Amino acid sequence: MKAHRRLRFSPWLLLSLLLSLSTRADVGYLDVAQLGTQPLSLTTHVGMLEDAARVLTLEDVSSREMSERFRYEQVGSSSFALGFTRSAYWFRLDVDNASEQSVTRLLVVDNPRISLVDAYVPDGQGGYRAWFTGADRPQGGKAYDNRNFVFPLHLAAHSQQVVYLRVESSIGLLVPLQLWSVQAFHAYEREDYMARAGYMGIAIAMILFNLMLFIALRERIYLLYVTFVLCAVCALTIKNGMAPDWTLFGLPLNSNVVYYSGASLALSGMLLFMRSMLQTTRLLPQVDRGLLALVVLYLVSPLIYAVALPQVSRVAIFVYLLTAFVMMGVGLACALKRQRSAYFFLAAFGLLILGGATTTLRALGILPTNAFTEDGLQIGSSLEMLLLAFALADRINVMRQEKLQAQARLLQTQEQLVETLQHSERELEHRVAVRTEELQVLNSRLETLSLTDALTGIANRRHFDEVLAKECKRAQRVGEPLALAVLDVDWFKAYNDHYGHPAGDSCLQQIAHTLAATISRSTDLVARYGGEEFVFLAPSTGLAGAQSMAEKLVKAVEALTLSHERSPLGHVTISVGIALMQSDANSPAQTLLQRADAALYRAKSQGRNRVVCDGQA
Ligand code: GH3
Ligand code: MG
Ligand code: MG
Repeated sequence: MKAHRRLRFSPWLLLSLLLSLSTRADVGYLDVAQLGTQPLSLTTHVGMLEDAARVLTLEDVSSREMSERFRYEQVGSSSFALGFTRSAYWFRLDVDNASEQSVTRLLVVDNPRISLVDAYVPDGQGGYRAWFTGADRPQGGKAYDNRNFVFPLHLAAHSQQVVYLRVESSIGLLVPLQLWSVQAFHAYEREDYMARAGYMGIAIAMILFNLMLFIALRERIYLLYVTFVLCAVCALTIKNGMAPDWTLFGLPLNSNVVYYSGASLALSGMLLFMRSMLQTTRLLPQVDRGLLALVVLYLVSPLIYAVALPQVSRVAIFVYLLTAFVMMGVGLACALKRQRSAYFFLAAFGLLILGGATTTLRALGILPTNAFTEDGLQIGSSLEMLLLAFALADRINVMRQEKLQAQARLLQTQEQLVETLQHSERELEHRVAVRTEELQVLNSRLETLSLTDALTGIANRRHFDEVLAKECKRAQRVGEPLALAVLDVDWFKAYNDHYGHPAGDSCLQQIAHTLAATISRSTDLVARYGGEEFVFLAPSTGLAGAQSMAEKLVKAVEALTLSHERSPLGHVTISVGIALMQSDANSPAQTLLQRADAALYRAKSQGRNRVVCDGQA
């Protein structure tokens, strides 16, 4: 103690003040009798001694000279952040129970990831009881069964104790030290485990839900999400000291190696998920190859951790940080390319980073300790999981909308097709109708043509034959007479010879016109039978009627007074032969014609320009 008093007046004091260092004498014993429901942070109450060679024993550090070397730092935060150090650190805590009753307090090292945590607690009989625990040791050796390292301190009334703690780690060394009353700690434990259970619940729900989505939709992205969440939950569970002891084929595994491996696998799962979600293969092909390389590195990293975790843990943290920046960058790049999923990804990832940052800032003493800052990473991770799951659900929504749009487009195309078909059908129908009409007109014209004589325009022989056959049958059926007359132009060969063939044609036309105009009954038919011969058919007409009709025709032609110099009569005349089919007769039409012809022959021989009936002399 004298040495310290001397030191107070030396420049060392100034230096130690500048460095915010003080000695144990300034601190004194810590009275632990009065402790409320909140833990007491011990960072300002414990002395710290670095053991770079990791050789010191309890005996060494409790010796008088060594006890002088413990430093008392005025750290603002609730933990000693010692970084990536291979040194062992000793902590010395002087406690005092000034009360009348004996008390039990719990010394809590609130970081389950410290490789070795040795506690030396006075056993009450002048000696020390040692606890050798830590992440690298089986959990069975713990003084108190908790996810953290908890050591009970029993203090009799008006007693003092000096407790020693030795820590060492293969990864970053962060030592939060707290002192709790037993009751308050039990209450805290319940809340603490509830928080982990809540997180676990969310994670399990997300895993199962997305696993079902994967089974239902068979899309790889859901499996990647499940893998990522599974690895992240495993890593976080180990980080929180909730996982059991790890063994491989019966051999114990170093829990920090498993923790770092879990983190690596979670990050590789996250990277694969991100590639799939943001479609980096398409949007950022070059970056995508880098991401794949990173995934490969993460997948082999467990082997590296198994061999040399203490040597690479600092680099690993650096790579993890780098990965976080890379992911943020990729998310931003995809968001700039207006990739819808990228917005979700950025928000989710932002929440995770915010959570991680909150936890870190709390550990550094910058943020106060509360439910949010304490479990920041866990809350951030939960929100991230939820937001990503929401993004996946949104994907389904987008896919459904795209499907609906495609269906609508298809429907529209189909409707257009149907409309086009209907239109062309209508057009076709219209064209067919027009063509049919044209054809009908053409047909009727053809029919007219086929039944009409080209030169004279009256019925031709074909027409006459048809009507004759029909009328013969009708006359027989109905029992009415049918009159048939054959007309022949007189001396017509001579007319042609004298006036020429064209004049002959014109003459024939005039005769035909006159014949057609002279017949009065609509049932009567005049036709050109051939050459300069005409026929006249009168149904329901007796011989007398037919004869008077024929006389009328002969007179009508004569009345034309077409001059015919080579005829003895001086003008064009016709001769007519009539035959009658009696109602009871059963003779064919041909016979009727022959009889009429015979009558005509007689009319010619009797001097022409006259009518002779069949059967007349
Ligand atoms: P007949 O009084 O005995 O009847 O004497 P014909 O000269 O009229 O004798 P026939 O009936 O044998 O003569 C028919 C003539 O009618 C022969 C031909 O020159 C003429 N001919 C027949 N068809 C046509 C025609 O289409 N146009 C013209 N211009 N002449 C025709
Ligand atoms: Mg003739
Ligand atoms: Mg003639």
